[in-house]
Amino acid sequence: MNKHYLAFAGNPNAGKTTLFNAITGAHQHVGNYPGITVDRKEGSTTLEDSRIDIVDLPGCYSLTAYTQEELVARQVLVDERPGLVVNVVDATKLERHLYLTMQFLELGVPVMLALNMMDDVRSKGIQINVPQLQKDLGCPAVGTVARTGAGKEELLRTAVDYAQQRNGEWRPLEISYGPDIDPLMDRLGARIEETGLLHEKYPPRWVALKYTEGDDSIIEQGRSINPLLSEQMEADVQTLRDHCLKTLNTFPEAIIADYRYGFIHALLKKSVIATQPQSARLDLTDKLDQVLTHKLGGPVLMLALLYAMFHVTFTLGEYPMELTHNFFALLADGAAAILPDGVFQSLIVSGIIDGVGGVLGFVPLIMIMFIIIAFLEDSGYMARMAYMLDKVFRSFGLHGSSVMPFIISGGIAGGCAVPGVMAARTLRSPKEKLATIITAPFMPCGAKIPVFLLLIGAFFSEHRAAVMFSITLGAWVMALLVARVLRSTLIRGESTPFVMELPPYRLPTIQGVLIHMWERTWEYIKKAGTVVLAISILIWAAMTFPGLDQETEQKFAAQQVALEQQLEATSSQTRQEQLQMQLEKLERKQGLTALKNSIAGRLGQMLEPISELAGFNWRTNIALIGGVAAKEVIVSTLGTAYSLGDVDADNSESLMSRMQKDEDWNRATAISAIIFVLLYAPCFVTIVVMARESSWGWAMFALVFNTALAFGLACAAYQIATAMV
Ligand code: GDP
Ligand code: MG
Repeated sequence: MNKHYLAFAGNPNAGKTTLFNAITGAHQHVGNYPGITVDRKEGSTTLEDSRIDIVDLPGCYSLTAYTQEELVARQVLVDERPGLVVNVVDATKLERHLYLTMQFLELGVPVMLALNMMDDVRSKGIQINVPQLQKDLGCPAVGTVARTGAGKEELLRTAVDYAQQRNGEWRPLEISYGPDIDPLMDRLGARIEETGLLHEKYPPRWVALKYTEGDDSIIEQGRSINPLLSEQMEADVQTLRDHCLKTLNTFPEAIIADYRYGFIHALLKKSVIATQPQSARLDLTDKLDQVLTHKLGGPVLMLALLYAMFHVTFTLGEYPMELTHNFFALLADGAAAILPDGVFQSLIVSGIIDGVGGVLGFVPLIMIMFIIIAFLEDSGYMARMAYMLDKVFRSFGLHGSSVMPFIISGGIAGGCAVPGVMAARTLRSPKEKLATIITAPFMPCGAKIPVFLLLIGAFFSEHRAAVMFSITLGAWVMALLVARVLRSTLIRGESTPFVMELPPYRLPTIQGVLIHMWERTWEYIKKAGTVVLAISILIWAAMTFPGLDQETEQKFAAQQVALEQQLEATSSQTRQEQLQMQLEKLERKQGLTALKNSIAGRLGQMLEPISELAGFNWRTNIALIGGVAAKEVIVSTLGTAYSLGDVDADNSESLMSRMQKDEDWNRATAISAIIFVLLYAPCFVTIVVMARESSWGWAMFALVFNTALAFGLACAAYQIATAMV
């Protein structure tokens, strides 16, 4: 005979005792939990060849150690490890009763729902989509009417089946508790797992959750086993506590509760249709949601909001960006004036000031972006955006929350992948986050736009808007397609079931938004002083060394001296101007020769036999290599490389018309270059940020993979276009 041990649990007045009586009949007895005044009721029944023992746990609203009843319920689960918890809920009040269910799921015990009071459900005109509810909760649910005993056989059968299937295995449900709590939970969870604190009793993340909630009973147990670790964790929690109090004017446990209710709210939105609002608590949220997540109006409003947000960021950001830019230009000029000419000056000016300045130049943009994101997040609207877009993005292996990183990266042309990749933080599943991070830099960011404008101006001037639009559309198509491919190959894995956190709407506090914004901005600034500085020096070195050999250097110097002497000798105004121009040309020619001889230049020439397949000559190659430092560099390097096509060309001729005349450039090359620039390696600031958000391995993967993909497509486009012309 099989034996099963079930625990009935539920809020007071869910009908638990009535159900217990209906099932066990006379086979029950009442005892006592040792040392306390809470009754312990046990009973048994049989089903086919199974004997089922049942304990009727005291009614409780949660599993925190606030009351004796709750503590007892938790102890039974942990010490006696029943094969299954039958969570009896009043199905007319799911909004409140599922709160306890959430806690069973978080603890990980095998649990199923008895949806009791189904008679009331029907008479109140509430419709419950049970299969949907089961799917979203990840556990079985059976409707019952305890007073008449209806549904009790099905309940028992399902319970026995499910208990057998789970075989006592605990599977803790991990939900997000928002950007404030999650990082701490991850950190504490990892430390608890490492040290094995309380591991024989509870899952690590759950212990972390209890520390965060300030659960005295768990903290006491933790202290007695590992006082040092416990003390550290308590200190961490205290820091978070102060932070939450300061930014959101609330406690961590209240935030956690909010997210649990948010989860439930979203779940019920999908599976319960009520004729009356479920509870007064969420009335305002319900009303707002009727408008903001309306089937048609919702997405339209969202698009309008996204566009506005984007517009505001980049228009507002323009001024401080220009200020920072000017500041660093001034700094560079100053340094150039003070320091003697030579490698050291070049290192300070081109390597360090330009590099770090380029990074810090993004700061204003990032600050504005994060103010808006913090506002959307703290208010609860971000979760609704994810909710509305989830269906579309899911079919590409992404998540509703992926929209934000895409848009910010340039999904509406002109964004920036640096804050874009950072915005992927709102994604909970590491795999979806990774796929988003790798594909977001495909978007036409603000630094790629000048390249496109140059090429469009030179070769497609009559279709400017159409080509620009196709580029943006192409970026979206590629991002989604590549995400789809990655998610079915390298980054395979199930998608998270729709993240169900729909927290109630809250008006964010200015202080909270600002603190959130600053934390993220500061993290970015810190990078400028470390990794970014090192890489920027590396790229500078590649474009500077080994420089000119002595003989060539002397030849240039001699020519310069000759020109300068002529300049001094002549008194004719026109002749002077002519000579001045020649001097400038000479300087540029020297620069180009040095660039050609540098590591980057040699690489560009070395790659020419291959890059020719896509129509790129060595000058284009250098510009594209420089583009890995920053996409802005592409146009300026092309400018340098083409400024000396022939020394006699008119100085004032624009790069655009020079390229039009160059025999290596035509429409096919332009198409190929547009595709390549759109998709190839992200700039190095983005790569550093990608590494921080995922790992250096994946950042390097993106660099190689995106470049290979871009080159393959550019070649194909070039060959086809050349054949057609
Ligand atoms: P407990 O606190 O969970 O043990 O709940 P009880 O079993 O004491 O039931 C609370 C109240 O709900 C009692 O008045 C029951 O008669 C009533 N009740 C229990 N189950 C049902 C049901 O399925 N439908 C209806 N309409 N009432 C029920
Ligand atoms: Mg009771």
